[in-house]
Amino acid sequence: MSKVELRNIAKIYDGATKVVKDVNIHVDDHDFVVLVGPSGCGKSTTLRMIAGLEEVTEGEILIDGVVVNDQPPKDRDIAMVFQNYALYPHMTVYENMAFGLKLRKYPKNEITERVNDAAKILGLEKFLNRKPKELSGGQRQRVAVGRAIVRKPKVFLFDEPLSNLDAKLRVQMRTEISKLHKKLKATIIYVTHDQTEAMTMGNKIVIMKDGEVQQIGAPLNLYNNPVNKFVAGFIGSPSMNFIDGNLINKDGLSFQAEDNSSISLSGKSFDFLSNHLNEKIVMGIRPEDFKVDSNQFTGNGSYINAKIEVVEPLGNETFLYFSIKDTQLIARVDSATKIEVDEMLKLHLDLEKIFFFDENEIRLN
Ligand code: ADP
Repeated sequence: MSKVELRNIAKIYDGATKVVKDVNIHVDDHDFVVLVGPSGCGKSTTLRMIAGLEEVTEGEILIDGVVVNDQPPKDRDIAMVFQNYALYPHMTVYENMAFGLKLRKYPKNEITERVNDAAKILGLEKFLNRKPKELSGGQRQRVAVGRAIVRKPKVFLFDEPLSNLDAKLRVQMRTEISKLHKKLKATIIYVTHDQTEAMTMGNKIVIMKDGEVQQIGAPLNLYNNPVNKFVAGFIGSPSMNFIDGNLINKDGLSFQAEDNSSISLSGKSFDFLSNHLNEKIVMGIRPEDFKVDSNQFTGNGSYINAKIEVVEPLGNETFLYFSIKDTQLIARVDSATKIEVDEMLKLHLDLEKIFFFDENEIRLN
């Protein structure tokens, strides 16, 4: 069993700024938990507190039910993989992987067995006698993972392990780490700023902003049910469109955008909006929920009149860019759709798929 629990964790550096605030996270056995958020939001600091590399200012960290706040890193039975791999340049791949075990005085035959096992799992058998500088970025990353695997730790911590790799290798290593998670039945806590990594790798995602947890949930749960505008905009690529405006009741409920164009909301009950009439609100709609053809959805529809400014044909899909006042919006449509720049288009939207946020960015529906 390998469970990690963070209870009301806070971190204050230099007795001044609180960079992590009241963080509560449960990591269950075999969980792959991804901490994700923009740079500087406190992800690494949180991970480093779990590892024991940073002191906890407030709250408790428990591993398998035991408070570890005062335990040094070496006693926590945790292995960490860093962004820069932190390999010893003068040691071979074998020695790099064996190093932690030697330090812990494992018998020689067990070290050999564990290193060979890890090398096999990671496809590193051919490279055991090479030095790190004789390896590609992806191979170095695998050695760093191997060094963690040989320890058979309770918990693996990954700190942005793929950010130094090129895009193609990143996608490949993503699936390798996911497979490894299944194979080893490992418990993993993984930090990244990349929402795609979070969505594709984690079974549980923790979204952070300014040191605070915004929402915790399964990837599709966050995608479909974001609690606020930040989460709605962070998860999904291209990001959700946001249109500033207010609600008016003129021949039925409408959303009036900043340029005074209005989007009719009649046809679906929006009872939760009745308290927000004439208030500033933000409407959110994902790029894929705009449809050129109104027959493409079954719910009640409405539409926006859009003048298409840019057309980006990507082969498998096409992105259409248009604006409402100064706000750039994007629609993601079928690649078979033939649209010209400057074309005026009715972009249909499914009223079941739109979100509303109040002035404090809290989701209303
Ligand atoms: P992230 O991993 O999300 O990019 P970090 O956890 O590295 O964010 O940092 C969170 C905040 O704490 C940042 O504002 C950063 O500048 C600050 N910070 C990180 N380490 C230290 C430190 N040793 N001393 C002072 N401030 C730090």
